[in-house]
Amino acid sequence: MERFPIFKTKIPGDKRVFDLDDPVERRKYFDCKADAEIEKLRDYLRNNTFVGFLIGKKGSGKGTYAKLFAEAVGPQYIEHISIGDLIRSIDSEIKTSSFLNFLEKHYRGPVALKDITKSLKERSTKTLLPTELILALVEREILKIGRKAVFIDGFPRDADQVSYSLYFRALIGYRNDPDFFIFFDVPEAIIDERMKYRVVCPKCQTSRNIRLLATKEIGYDKKSRKFYLVCDQDKSRMVPKEGDELGIEAIRGRIETDEKVAQSLMKMQGVPKIYLRNSLPVKVAKQYADDYEITKSYSYKYQNNKVKIIQESWRVNDDNGVESFSLLAPPVVVALIKQIVKVLGL
Ligand SMILES: [Zn+2]
Repeated sequence: MERFPIFKTKIPGDKRVFDLDDPVERRKYFDCKADAEIEKLRDYLRNNTFVGFLIGKKGSGKGTYAKLFAEAVGPQYIEHISIGDLIRSIDSEIKTSSFLNFLEKHYRGPVALKDITKSLKERSTKTLLPTELILALVEREILKIGRKAVFIDGFPRDADQVSYSLYFRALIGYRNDPDFFIFFDVPEAIIDERMKYRVVCPKCQTSRNIRLLATKEIGYDKKSRKFYLVCDQDKSRMVPKEGDELGIEAIRGRIETDEKVAQSLMKMQGVPKIYLRNSLPVKVAKQYADDYEITKSYSYKYQNNKVKIIQESWRVNDDNGVESFSLLAPPVVVALIKQIVKVLGL
């Protein structure tokens, strides 16, 4: 993974500290770290668009990065198109005539539309959708949102779709707009622990992480001697989701496909590439990032009938076995902003 350079977000001499969980503080943070680039991007996006492909393994947080980019630059300029969400929305839309009319006008491909809709209705969630249908869905989404810069998340999904991505901007009517691939490198250990320690509120479905994203109140079950999170909203005891205890092994097939797709896109010539990494070696972290930009982990002790919370910088081994810290999402987005400005030549 030597392609992924360590990006410096630390500004020498700047002692300010921001709470990156807080939206107001985050605004100040983005302006502190990248105000000139954010201005350049806004100027550009007032009259222009781009197509950015988010490429990374499942669980690498692509959706979060896209959301924070929009927050930093301005949500009116950019849309995040998740192919997975579009495909899931078919289930409810397949019954509507407007959807079917759209496909009749816009879908072109080797499989008859009536055969596709038939298999969709009888689904079988595993039905593989023809790429041509996915393109029609994206086209429809773009008509809905109007012309904006877009992040495409979840395409190409497998090796067969890689060459489509080279012509994608033409296929969706963005022929003359800059397009580029954005690769996210997230160590497997990070994806694994994010999954293993994930918990959800049975009442309001809020998702948290007992090691990485705690609630205000922590409970202790004396019988099982286990700690649990107490939902901030409704005080329910949060519980793990079934299957998550397997961690990354539960999605191993998907992870391998994602890796193959990324490797073959890296070889593609003619499309600019942006490389972003989520982790940085503990040894050099201080030179590159501020302490508040690094993900913290939580562990707990039960003492004198009270839960004691121990917070420290989260350490994981990256895929090469190098002890690393994991950056919070905002610093990765600062790197993304600066790289996009470079690629666009602003
Ligand atoms: Zn809740």
